[in-house]
Amino acid sequence: MTTRPWDLPAPEPSPGSLPAVLGLDRAALRALAMEWGEPSFRGDQIFEGLYRHRWDTWASFSILPGTFRTRLQEGRPIGLPEIVESVPSTDGSTKHVFRLADGLRVEGVHMPYRDRSTLCLSSQVGCAMGCTFCATGSMGIGRNLDAGEIVGQVLAMLRRHGGSPASPVNLVFMGMGEPLHNLDHVLRAFRILSDPRGLAISPRRITVSTSGLVPGIRALGSHHPRPRLAVSLNATTDAQRSRTMPVNRVWNLEALGECLGAFPLQRGERITLEYVLLRGLSDGLEDGRRLAAFAKRFPSKVNLIPFNATESDPRMADFQPPEESRIGELCRILSDSGLTVSVRRSRGQDVAGACGQLVRKRGFRA
Ligand code: SF4
Repeated sequence: MTTRPWDLPAPEPSPGSLPAVLGLDRAALRALAMEWGEPSFRGDQIFEGLYRHRWDTWASFSILPGTFRTRLQEGRPIGLPEIVESVPSTDGSTKHVFRLADGLRVEGVHMPYRDRSTLCLSSQVGCAMGCTFCATGSMGIGRNLDAGEIVGQVLAMLRRHGGSPASPVNLVFMGMGEPLHNLDHVLRAFRILSDPRGLAISPRRITVSTSGLVPGIRALGSHHPRPRLAVSLNATTDAQRSRTMPVNRVWNLEALGECLGAFPLQRGERITLEYVLLRGLSDGLEDGRRLAAFAKRFPSKVNLIPFNATESDPRMADFQPPEESRIGELCRILSDSGLTVSVRRSRGQDVAGACGQLVRKRGFRA
């Protein structure tokens, strides 16, 4: 039997020798404080310092007794990933490259809007899923990120760009990696990011996007609270989807539709279907009608994403963005079926920071 890369546990995080505190939730920080002979509320103070005040050095934690602070300074790095490169796009978004404790690199994107900002996060170094239209998929899998490396991307981008409670933050796991291939760490990061005593980001504003890993979707549905679910659909027949998304050869459209139909949704919640439009491949009018039929099987909304051309991967030379007129026709088919549809003009295209463009051109470390 052939081994599928996503069946193997992705290599676990391997940060530096001293375990960082980012990634520990409040209970774990309280336990850490008590382990070191301090009252448990010191753990809450560390949590609030890290996530509410966003202090990034132990020297800033003047609320802690000096001896405790010194021990932390010597024995537990905070673990904020370093931004080693930032590439601003003409549309206002910025792609950031983060260096992790072991030298590997991942990317994230900050996208400001008038009344909010959206941060696109990576959940893995590389990705095992191998979608052919995606630059990250061409890298293969390096390893999973741990929860601290995920929340670290948020803190580092908020530090760089600012952010206040008046300007809500949306988080989307649409950067490098298949988040449901790293569910434990993604959920731990979710709990930290949504903790009311820290960043307090509403669970409704946190979305994980999957390529259609059916067992992962089922596992996500068994958690409460949990992030919202988006599925990268991108084709409406098995033949076409299997060509661009190898995961479909195992869990085809019928299996995926059945799994999404059984996904436990909160009142008013909908599953987002993302659909990359590739000229001549997935943008036919018949595709629009099949997409509408699929989307109506469960509460959903559809995001149409005109393909982003990326120079770095010759495998993508065959793919072209759709004609503008075709985008309008597909929108009409979907909205006439009673569906909510939006066209996502990916941001950061000129700096390869858009959907499906995040890739370390010189490998995981460069
Ligand atoms: S589209 Fe997502 S799941 Fe597919 S290869 Fe790219 S990062 Fe991985």
